[in-house]
Amino acid sequence: MAKVFAIANQKGGVGKTTSCVNLAASLVASQQRVLLIDLDPQGNATTGSGVDKLALEQSVYDVLVGHCEPAQAMQRSEHGGYDLLPANRDLTAAEVTLLDLPNKEQRLRQALAPIRGDYEFILIDCPPALSMLTINALVAADGVIIPMQCEYYALEGLSDLVNSIQRIGGLLNPQLKIEGILRTMYDGRIGLTNEVTAQLREHFGEALYDTTIPRNVRLAEAPSHGMPVLVYDKSSRGAKAYQALAGEVLARQRERTRRTPA
Ligand code: ADP
Ligand code: MG
Repeated sequence: MAKVFAIANQKGGVGKTTSCVNLAASLVASQQRVLLIDLDPQGNATTGSGVDKLALEQSVYDVLVGHCEPAQAMQRSEHGGYDLLPANRDLTAAEVTLLDLPNKEQRLRQALAPIRGDYEFILIDCPPALSMLTINALVAADGVIIPMQCEYYALEGLSDLVNSIQRIGGLLNPQLKIEGILRTMYDGRIGLTNEVTAQLREHFGEALYDTTIPRNVRLAEAPSHGMPVLVYDKSSRGAKAYQALAGEVLARQRERTRRTPA
């Protein structure tokens, strides 16, 4: 049964999409079967996976509103090696359309139920808002991975997200937990970074990943080639960081299965 992780932070530009695409590709490189769901109308994860968002016949929007099954909208990321449920601007309409549909918060969860057995990991790239789309992701997920930059205001926004996770967890998805906090665009030479890290460790304890993602221009260049950084420049610091993250995600998963054997 796939573990479903939502990559979420209501702030834009913190590295959600970059982390989603590159973690997906790095998990594939570790022999995992992965599905990436683009749940952002900007479609950046779709483009970054090498799929033309303007040429989609079906997208995750059609899946959410019940026009088609996930398999009919799915594409394969050629360079990433994972399956992709793509998105484009059509998804903007979902915010309104979903409101009139039954089980509006559970559409994604229900759509994924029949295909969870086909993957080890399903990663959901969330839009930069606590919207109905993000709620669908949080209801479908087992855990939330929160990418963040270690800056002064980062912690402030984080408490809104954590509150939403707790609220949604309490109401609609009791087993939802914070899977991991990921420090992105990280520079350990900056004093503030260490201060924020200390606060994160105090607040989130073990959920804080040891792996940090450095600022690396190769990570910013790769999406315009429709490639994960692992393919675009395998020896870059960015590629190594995301491989280390995949290793840490897998280690946590192994530890969990060891503690609760099926
Ligand atoms: P989000 O999905 O949270 O809005 P993105 O992943 O799209 O954030 O990242 C925002 C911008 O920063 C993009 O242009 C991306 O290429 C760039 N970026 C993300 N992570 C890094 C990094 N570690 N080093 C350099 N650039 C990065
Ligand atoms: Mg994004």
